[in-house]
Amino acid sequence: MSAFVGKYADELIKNAKYIATPGKGILAADESTGTIGKRLASINVENIEANRQALRELLFTSPNALQYLSGVILFEETLYQKTSDGKPFVQVLEENNVIPGIKVDTGVVELAGTNGETTTQGFDSLGARCQKYYKAGARFAKWRAVLKIGPTEPSELSIQQNAQGLARYAIICQENGLVPIVEPEILTDGPHDIAKCAAVTETVLASVYKALNDHHVLLEGTLLKPNMVTPGSDSPKVAAEVIAEYTVQALRRTVPAAVPGIVFLSGGQSEEEATLNLNAMNKLEVLKPWTLSFSFGRALQQSTLKTWGGKEENVAKAQGAFLARCKANSEATLGKFVGGSQAGLASESLYEKNYKY
Ligand code: 13P
Repeated sequence: MSAFVGKYADELIKNAKYIATPGKGILAADESTGTIGKRLASINVENIEANRQALRELLFTSPNALQYLSGVILFEETLYQKTSDGKPFVQVLEENNVIPGIKVDTGVVELAGTNGETTTQGFDSLGARCQKYYKAGARFAKWRAVLKIGPTEPSELSIQQNAQGLARYAIICQENGLVPIVEPEILTDGPHDIAKCAAVTETVLASVYKALNDHHVLLEGTLLKPNMVTPGSDSPKVAAEVIAEYTVQALRRTVPAAVPGIVFLSGGQSEEEATLNLNAMNKLEVLKPWTLSFSFGRALQQSTLKTWGGKEENVAKAQGAFLARCKANSEATLGKFVGGSQAGLASESLYEKNYKY
């Protein structure tokens, strides 16, 4: 059955392709009010709107950083915020050729009868919300589905529910002019090895693309945001080259060539680790029909946040840290990153058990 071709088809294809421009990637700055509260608490800053605005202004006005980005994912509050000089954030991004995006899911709930598996919520008024966000300048969206690896997980129920949810979300976005980022995140929690993560990732992605096809989603107007294929958090680490081999193999087996770009989440990896892994993938000499880039949250912001510490006098220095991460990840999308330049803060693990975004 062929893809749905609505009035936005050309625009969706153009925007998805632009976001996947080699050398550029996405900043995920769409932490919900609760999640950003945890980040701010880690630097002893109160979770009030003024402080959330200040952090986002620091990021979006970082000198020279936006040249390395093609998109920024925003939370609803941020979509309507302005700089302290009164310029809408959306305008700041657009003037720098960065496409504004919006998180449209409303978090996860447990699937009854499972061992803590979840499905994602946010279908109420989703079409109307997409229309509203489009009017406000958003051109792409994010919806995060979460799966976990365990003795009997992910269950068939969780795989099917999350694949159907992502597909239904994706077509609603496309009907309303937003490029859907399809994000089936498989958590790293657990003692499993990398082969297990690869097998689960392949099964989940195969189900996701079957569902996208069943829902008539126009793949050329989508992006995939997957986990990298790694050993579980309670298992010994492996080299970036090994992660790259397994990840690219899993993607080549399951992601159609019509998808313009794959933008990874960082999933608790340190800033340096995430960059090195992305770089190793782009150095691999196998056919990769899509761009491999980043849509990092924690791995783009952690050293910036720590350097800032909520203090006005640290803003310029923190912006320098943000620029360094953006540039490093841009180089990694081209397989040209030389590691080791960001020891210290950038090497700190960001892993958190059962992470909720
Ligand atoms: P991390 O890069 O911090 O995993 O977050 C990316 C994201 O947007 C998850 O939905």
